[in-house]
Amino acid sequence: MTLSAQTPRRLESFVSGRWTAGQRDGKPLLNAANGQTVALIDASGLDYGAALEWGRKVGGKNLRKYSFHERAAMLKALAQALMEQKEAFYAESFLTGATRTDGWIDIEGGFGTLFAYSSKARRELPNTRILTEGDVEVLSRDNTFAAQHILTPMEGVAVHINAFNFPVWGMLEKIAPTLIAGMPCLVKPASQTAYLTELVVRRILETGILPEGTLQLVSGSAGDMLDHLTGEDVLTFTGSASTGQMLRGHPKVVSESVRFTMEADSLNSSVLGTDAAPGTPEFDFFVKEVAREMTTKAGQKCTAIRRVIAPRAHTDALIEALSARLGKTVIGDPALENTRMGPLASLDQREEVRDRIKDLCAEAEIVAGNPDEVSVASGDADKGAFLNPVLLHCAKPLDGTAIHDVEAFGPVATVMPYDDIEEAVELAKRGKGSLVASVFTNDPKVAEEVVIGMAPLHGRVLIGNRDSAKTSTGHGSPLPMLVHGGPGRAGGGEEMGGMRGVKHYMQRTAVQGTPRLLSAVTGRWIAGASGLDTPVHPFRKSLAELNIGDQLITKSREVTLADIEHFATFTGDTFYAHMDEESARANPFFEGRVAHGYLIVSFAAGLFVDPAPGPVLANYGVDNLRFLTPVNPGDELKVQLTAKEINPRITADYGEVRWDCCVTNQNDEVVAQYDVLTMVAKTWPQVAQAAE
Ligand code: NDP
Repeated sequence: MTLSAQTPRRLESFVSGRWTAGQRDGKPLLNAANGQTVALIDASGLDYGAALEWGRKVGGKNLRKYSFHERAAMLKALAQALMEQKEAFYAESFLTGATRTDGWIDIEGGFGTLFAYSSKARRELPNTRILTEGDVEVLSRDNTFAAQHILTPMEGVAVHINAFNFPVWGMLEKIAPTLIAGMPCLVKPASQTAYLTELVVRRILETGILPEGTLQLVSGSAGDMLDHLTGEDVLTFTGSASTGQMLRGHPKVVSESVRFTMEADSLNSSVLGTDAAPGTPEFDFFVKEVAREMTTKAGQKCTAIRRVIAPRAHTDALIEALSARLGKTVIGDPALENTRMGPLASLDQREEVRDRIKDLCAEAEIVAGNPDEVSVASGDADKGAFLNPVLLHCAKPLDGTAIHDVEAFGPVATVMPYDDIEEAVELAKRGKGSLVASVFTNDPKVAEEVVIGMAPLHGRVLIGNRDSAKTSTGHGSPLPMLVHGGPGRAGGGEEMGGMRGVKHYMQRTAVQGTPRLLSAVTGRWIAGASGLDTPVHPFRKSLAELNIGDQLITKSREVTLADIEHFATFTGDTFYAHMDEESARANPFFEGRVAHGYLIVSFAAGLFVDPAPGPVLANYGVDNLRFLTPVNPGDELKVQLTAKEINPRITADYGEVRWDCCVTNQNDEVVAQYDVLTMVAKTWPQVAQAAE
């Protein structure tokens, strides 16, 4: 595919349940590579108050009817539907200046984030509508008063304001955790590339997968939207520090304590270790990574390496290697297969980057590239926003300020020499808080010193060495399971980070009360609540029949010395505390030979298991196993087994049941405490068997 004239389309917003065009003709959005008008954008006349209210009243209510697993399943279905249409998105992505590889990060990286959130949520969250967090806190001696933290979905709308550089991923990485949490979204993409976001939102809404009111889109300026925010809403922002600070200080955000997350530009650094001399695999990996970070998306990435920190002795070799590599970058029409770097997002953006390079030149000299001369292999060098990579060098970086402060949001980086590791860390910290940093070293001491030194001012740190050169996901790639965001200059926000990100859209509440009522609130049996006596063994109950709190109290079983010896010889675990009376007595914890912990667990299973085939399909593990009181020969063991949590799977005919297992001795002392994890059939006998 090559560049072609596009008929400009008028972008629309989707608010209060309908697609709406602005009242004016709209501002033209230009193809980054040839200056032709791609679309017109305008959001004048939108009723933002009504849109937010519609999201709260219709979207929130609809979404909260579903469980975490059901909402996660929606994300997977959405990702599958979008993936099938990906070529249409690539076609528009080229217009933003993105090459196919750049587009892959944005488009398929975005869909991958939906998939990842969907599968992580189904694996890591219960299939419920609220979450419990942490252990139950017992607040009275007799356990009649306790507390549990719970998380419930916030009842407002999450307003997500995005940057121009990732029109797809930028939206999806924010809405994935929001929707799983049960909160509706209103997305406002940056105008410059909003046509791609608008297309994806259209396709999302056409699937009909999301409940009504769950997703709204504003194509154009935010107008007075923020004036309508309330304390139940969330505002997230990605973009420039100056806009972010203005939004953080917005009167409504301040007066209503609106939860606000900001992810702003940062001067990310990468450190070449003292051991990584030219000729080592780490040096080569570093050169490759810095060049890749400078040229991917033409350096328009919030995580790109801006400051290249290297041992002074290796600086010349590094500049030479980087210049050679950057010089080979094929720059041109992003839609062409051999193009490695496309243009910046707009001519304005290029002027902005050129101005920032001038600022940097007050403290650094250009050692590769010329910001004022454009040399392209294809595309329109006059009308396209092309800029060849520019490498700078600052000999005295500790004396500089602009090199640590000024972000040239393009293919630009500054090499900074250091004399010892402490200085390298000091330089990295001069960025005053960054999204990410990296260190390339094969020396554990260097890795430790640099990572621990930089971590307090960074949201993510990557270590690169020869072993991970092929498998590393790279300095600049935020991942759905890892935290994305950094302190200070980077905005002080935090996005994604797996299920942590979901909790950003939920309210944490400490609930205090008696265990029976806390169990009723949380849907989780809490020790201290009475158990339900059941006429049939709970293992004979299918998921449909089992209740939270169903309880079995077993008969007792004595542990004999012969049992301990048999277990020791049978398993080979002849640790002295089980075998040698004198040595066991000398141990500060025991008063003689004790039973193996695993013998206790095995005997407990022997006591509580119902052996016949039934709805319990498998025991897939135990959680939180603790041995609390030693068991000596002659002690009597008894088990209390209680159904603690029931999680039916939505796509299988079974679910998970977590059982509270408490093993006590003849004095009612708890000797072992743990959760038994089982898979249980939804119905029993299974329908097919019943029909036979
Ligand atoms: P801006 O901060 O101006 O814009 C970011 C987002 O904020 C856009 O959606 C923009 O909408 C919106 N916005 C702007 N003003 C307001 C407002 N008053 N109320 C509500 N929303 C508002 O960044 P730019 O996109 O113009 O980029 C400028 C610089 O920011 C870049 O050169 C780069 O240095 C940095 N940047 C950092 C990024 C990062 O990921 N950290 C990403 C992109 C840019 P609209 O586009 O409609 O004005």
